Amino acid sequence: MVWMGISCLHSDMVKVRHHRLDMAVAAGTGSLSFQPVDDGDAPDGDTLYQLSKLASLTEHLEYEGLVKAADLGKYGDFGVGAPYRLGELNILDGKVYQALHDGTVVVSDLHQRVPFAQLTRFKADFSHSFSSASNIRDFESQLDRLIAPHGRNVFYAVKINGRFPMMRCRSVHFQRKPFKAMKRVMAEDQVITVWHNISGTLIAIYGPGFIRPLAPAGWHFHFLSDDRKLGGHVLDLQAGQVKAEFDSIPQFVLMLPET
Ligand SMILES: [Zn+2]
Repeated sequence: MVWMGISCLHSDMVKVRHHRLDMAVAAGTGSLSFQPVDDGDAPDGDTLYQLSKLASLTEHLEYEGLVKAADLGKYGDFGVGAPYRLGELNILDGKVYQALHDGTVVVSDLHQRVPFAQLTRFKADFSHSFSSASNIRDFESQLDRLIAPHGRNVFYAVKINGRFPMMRCRSVHFQRKPFKAMKRVMAEDQVITVWHNISGTLIAIYGPGFIRPLAPAGWHFHFLSDDRKLGGHVLDLQAGQVKAEFDSIPQFVLMLPET
């Protein structure tokens, strides 16, 4: 069963629900310190927090965001998202990284706002090693088979480490006002970069099919190289030997800006 909740950002409700959160932020280092949300009546178990609805990005041109990157630490230490005025956001081991348009990665400015993110406090429930996938569809099929015994109707966060004979990623140029629609951003400002024989981590989020259009459904992969210098949103890949750690997540909280 998926437990769902909706929070409103900047509302009294959020202040009440999250007022006991404290965060130690190492300014400028991109490091987050996670403190579990004390919801009182929330059911036990892992939670995937989503900052804003998917349509805010895809339809409503909301590319700036309300929540500072530093505040993501309230919700988790592992996830994906979009940074202020676009690009690709990776949250791994409590650090926030931003892939620039050319696939180079920088540590995020924690004072910068974030328009969209999905993140959780990562805790592996089970893991598998597997080898060789010739493309992303093949890779997704292998992951599908591995989650099937655990259920397809919950969320999963999956941390996948390994070597990738080919990794094809995209990011997009920083956007300036007046903002254009996401379709035009992708047509005009997307930059695709291909790396060969690269080692790193895939930050994967799986959403069950019924969650669309509030959130992405199916597999969504971001990549971060071992040296934390390269990455982006994954369009295609070839995988060698990889180790995948799966966090099964039965709760989903959607946080909405009051717009
Ligand atoms: Zn992405």
